[in-house]
Amino acid sequence: MRSITLIIVHCSANKAGSALRMADIDRYHRSLGWKCCGYHYVIPTDGSIEIGRPEEMVGAHCVNHNKYSIGVCYIGGLAADGITPADTRTEAQKHALKSLLTDLQRRYPNALIVGHCELDYRKPHCPGFSVAELRRSN
Ligand SMILES: [Zn+2]
Repeated sequence: MRSITLIIVHCSANKAGSALRMADIDRYHRSLGWKCCGYHYVIPTDGSIEIGRPEEMVGAHCVNHNKYSIGVCYIGGLAADGITPADTRTEAQKHALKSLLTDLQRRYPNALIVGHCELDYRKPHCPGFSVAELRRSN
């Protein structure tokens, strides 16, 4: 098993209420020539926790940080106009994210939970809410 020091939270940059699921991201990422969905977990608006790629496989979601991280992505992140960054998480997504992160934290106690924006200044709006705040509230 690879060593995991970061759990990175993303949004998919889709507008609020998007019906996208892991299979759609998987299809898109394969179309880019990737092996499969770049994230390890995808959380659609209904709050399901869908597995993208296996945890033991290096992800494709955060430049320079894939090797030691797990990538988690919720569907959404843009307001209804499809442009303005926003925290569009449904209650079901918030609940699912919390339980997934709790599980990952338990299994990787040395890993830090961060938002994509904390690692890449070119992604200032990913995931659209403060993961630092979420860390503090845990
Ligand atoms: Zn991201």
